[in-house]
Amino acid sequence: MNEEVKTTNFIHDIIDADLASGKHVEVVTRFPPEPNGYLHIGHAKAIHLDFGTAEKYGGRCHLRMDDTNPEAEDEEYVKAIQEDIRWLGYDWGRHLYWASDYFDTMYEYAIRLIKKGKAYVCELGKEEFKDYRGIPTEPGKEPPGRGRSIEENLALFEKMKNGGFEDGACVLRARIDMASPNLHMRDPALYRIKRATHHNTGDKWCIYPMYDFAHCIEDSLEGVTHSMCTMEFEVHRPLYDWILEELDVFRSHQYEFSKLNLTYVVLSKRRLLQLVNEGLVGGWDDPRMPTLCGMRRRGFTPEAIKKLCTIVGCTKYEGITEIEQFESIVRDDLNEASLRAMAVLDPLKVVIENYPDNLVEEFEVPNHPQKEELGTRKVPFGRELWIERDDYMDDAPSKFKGFTIGREVRLRGAYLATCNSVERDAGGNVVGLRCTYDPETKGGSAPDGRKVRSTIHWVSARHAVDAEIRLYDRLYTVENPLGDKEKEFKDFLNPDSLKVATGKLEPMLANVEPGTRFQFERVGYFCADLDHTPAKPLFNRTLTLRGTKA
Ligand code: ATP
Ligand code: MG
Repeated sequence: MNEEVKTTNFIHDIIDADLASGKHVEVVTRFPPEPNGYLHIGHAKAIHLDFGTAEKYGGRCHLRMDDTNPEAEDEEYVKAIQEDIRWLGYDWGRHLYWASDYFDTMYEYAIRLIKKGKAYVCELGKEEFKDYRGIPTEPGKEPPGRGRSIEENLALFEKMKNGGFEDGACVLRARIDMASPNLHMRDPALYRIKRATHHNTGDKWCIYPMYDFAHCIEDSLEGVTHSMCTMEFEVHRPLYDWILEELDVFRSHQYEFSKLNLTYVVLSKRRLLQLVNEGLVGGWDDPRMPTLCGMRRRGFTPEAIKKLCTIVGCTKYEGITEIEQFESIVRDDLNEASLRAMAVLDPLKVVIENYPDNLVEEFEVPNHPQKEELGTRKVPFGRELWIERDDYMDDAPSKFKGFTIGREVRLRGAYLATCNSVERDAGGNVVGLRCTYDPETKGGSAPDGRKVRSTIHWVSARHAVDAEIRLYDRLYTVENPLGDKEKEFKDFLNPDSLKVATGKLEPMLANVEPGTRFQFERVGYFCADLDHTPAKPLFNRTLTLRGTKA
């Protein structure tokens, strides 16, 4: 995972120039989540950019909770956001800030604008507001309050603050240009009235700043040099610049980049919340969710997520990344990093007829085929084994990698064995194999050097641990669940996104810590679930061993 990835990042080019020209001596960025949901892999792109850029230039990145909307925010989300950022490997140090910490300053700044004749109180209702604003190709109309005196506006704004108006009765607006081709510059709202208890400021305020007014001020107060956000804010940038210029405060600059989009994935907190609230998934951390906590529970590594972010780079082009590309990065990473283990997901009983009934041998097997430093472990072997049902076939073709009557197969790390007969149920289904082993092939190789092409995994029946195995697949059946005008994204949920199997595991797997990742040999990548215990082993399939599309 350490090889350098070639990537495009136009913001880094800008920063290089800013540092070279002396415009800035230090790089300060921020990540500004709104604590109204859990972070998803799209946010990881922003985090990677914000924190990664600060890291690259030896600057700092602030974590700022964007809590200007008192209604949707929750302490649970605040904690989860911090945990997820730390999991990705980033640290804000002492730079944790709250937008609400600046409410007093924002209020003063609003008064400063009013005193300059650059803001006024406007009583237009929602519909009238839009009507006066008009459409881009024609100038808007002058709102009635626009000509009011500074004194009047100061008095009205104070009355807003003191609760003298109903919710929504009026707003404070910037006085810019009702004819601007950019609708965001047609006297945008800066403050609204909303009686709501805020988690930080309680009932102190009944007026709250709008995002556009708040964000640039927060950036400026914190000395943020490069404020990175997604493309939809591009049209807001003239307002960002206007506010800081009129206030005559430190000039932060906003740069926009395109969002991360993935096929077969829906990224939007609102929609993810819908899945949670409607019980369509098990929660925000359901391993099928594209949330960072869901992906962690599923077994994805932070390294793979960051590598994806590096590869997609930072551009202004709207693009969509194929999920197969991400999965392939995850597989490469897991192949490197995860320990090997043996587990059988669809068990078929094998009896080794010439193996002594009460004998138990232990075989030492490597934890990773290429990484000696990861050590070895002992796996018990006995007369009765579990193997994968599809590792037996009647009249198998020669390329089949498993048992068929009369063919010798290697039981990984243990012995060579030959299947002599099978047991069947009334319906003719194979329910057991009768085999013999060659005692001279201990460790899995024949002293006479005879070739055995197939090696299969197995688990000793006497020692096997039963485990619940959750087999996850994509949450949706189509690449773009939002792409159908007639249907809702939820109409494309994959009914087979979770299947449950009872597996037979080698015994050490019962005692691993939740979150430990394995490659179950020949089966796939798995991770011990959060709720895994020795008494109730529980594993999640992260991914199958190979993807379906190259
Ligand atoms: P959503 O649209 O999923 O509800 P949001 O943008 O409302 O997310 P915020 O908490 O406001 O969520 O976002 C914090 C930061 O993450 C913002 O700077 C936002 O631009 C960025 N961000 C959100 N989604 C993506 C994405 N898909 N790719 C890159 N950055 C994103
Ligand atoms: Mg948002």
